[in-house]
Amino acid sequence: MSNQSMQLRVRPVRALADNYIWLIESPRAPSQVVVVDPGDAAPVIAELERRGASLAAILLTHHHPDHIAGVPALLALARVPVIGPADGRIPFLTRSLADAERLELGDLGLAFESLHVPGHTLTHLAFCGHGALFCGDTLFSAGCGRLFEGTALQMNASLNRLRGLPPDTRIYCGHEYTEANLRFALAVEPHNEAARHYRDSAATLCAKGLPTLPSQLSLEIRVNPFLRCGEAAVRRSAEWHAGRPLPDAAAVFGELRAWKDQFR
Ligand code: ZN
Ligand code: FE
Repeated sequence: MSNQSMQLRVRPVRALADNYIWLIESPRAPSQVVVVDPGDAAPVIAELERRGASLAAILLTHHHPDHIAGVPALLALARVPVIGPADGRIPFLTRSLADAERLELGDLGLAFESLHVPGHTLTHLAFCGHGALFCGDTLFSAGCGRLFEGTALQMNASLNRLRGLPPDTRIYCGHEYTEANLRFALAVEPHNEAARHYRDSAATLCAKGLPTLPSQLSLEIRVNPFLRCGEAAVRRSAEWHAGRPLPDAAAVFGELRAWKDQFR
């Protein structure tokens, strides 16, 4: 089995209100882990201790405190590489990545490609490798991040790039927002059977306190309205909400994002 097709072992660490910090186990040395978006150090340290594991590297998708605030305390424990987007608001990087760069963590048997996915923030990165995507606050299950810095056009282009990844890509997002996102998805597409089915299975998982993540891209393409802006039913809903015809999928996306911002 090739390195890239080998399924990664990835564990969720819940943090703050609804964040996920992802721990990626090295396939070569399982006691070595890479942490993605540590917004808080304490739960990461507790999980490392519980597993007798040590930290080997830190990956950061974007500069928001709920994704990076735990970095200084983790670096105080171990001086490991910190990799993320070039952004003055992330002070402790040892390496910055632009778009489409290869990140080799050779000792760990891990390799990722960076994708620059502006929209939620202007410098936001996603990391793709081994059939997994770590996408921070760009793509959520059944939803997408808010446009804090970028435009609807940028976010739509970023999501279209992610949509083009292999359909069996596992999606590791930064937050557990799936149930609320599905309420919106079903307001947009009340007759989407896949979304109704997913709503029921997500509710069962959440009631047990279990993560709905990782998701899979093939599922997202069926249920996530922000990946379905070209679908006639999504377009009709967006046009109904806008009260006017929308010229293209990017305009449908912009309308959906604005609608979701004030959806309760
Ligand atoms: Zn964020
Ligand atoms: Fe966040």
